[in-house]
Amino acid sequence: MTSQRARDRLARRLQELGIRDPRVLEVMRSTPRHLFVDEALAHRAYENTALPIGFGQTISQPYIVARMTEALLEDGVPELVLEVGTGSGYQAAVLAQLVGRVVSLERVRPLQRRAREVLSSMRLHNVSLRHTDGTQGWPEHAPYDGILLTAAPRQLPEALLLQLKVGGRLLAPVGGENETQSLVRITRTSKAFVKDELGPVSFVPLLPGEVP
Ligand code: SAH
Repeated sequence: MTSQRARDRLARRLQELGIRDPRVLEVMRSTPRHLFVDEALAHRAYENTALPIGFGQTISQPYIVARMTEALLEDGVPELVLEVGTGSGYQAAVLAQLVGRVVSLERVRPLQRRAREVLSSMRLHNVSLRHTDGTQGWPEHAPYDGILLTAAPRQLPEALLLQLKVGGRLLAPVGGENETQSLVRITRTSKAFVKDELGPVSFVPLLPGEVP
């Protein structure tokens, strides 16, 4: 079930769940999510669920990818976005079709390699991937208009907040592995970091160090 019908059904489901931004719905409809999962799971790629991608990690649920992307785009399209947790590369692919440029960090080398292959097969050349522990961000390209974490820290690392441009937004699941995590949006103003809570979520934890 990797057909256009399955993709259209997913887009309709996302709309029912409250995704409104037509740009986001269109990209969710057209992105070939089955390329980002193992062939054995391709028939489930257009279900609204997280799926395993190896190394104890998951490709995020489409609704959550759409929700975070929509929240990131709400006040204008960001030019440069940092993602921490490339995983399968799916969220990066969605972003790359909507923003100027994406920089994405992944601590597990084999996942990063596979993501690179899929993204280049899709000819998405505005994504830079790096194998590193992303807890400290990627200061070389900072400041960012948007930062997205797709793995949950217990608390937001200060280094990431400081890499946000004034006017920029950070979206992240925050909370421990066995606690309820909350999807948090931080907007940096000239004077402060303003926090909104967007609801409960469930992500894999942000872990320290690199896996070769
Ligand atoms: N955005 C991904 C979601 C992958 S799950 C997708 O669309 O498929 C989260 C990913 O974050 C995992 O691949 C995990 O290895 C990675 N991760 C966890 N801690 C990290 C860290 N400190 N730095 C970089 N990546 C990290």
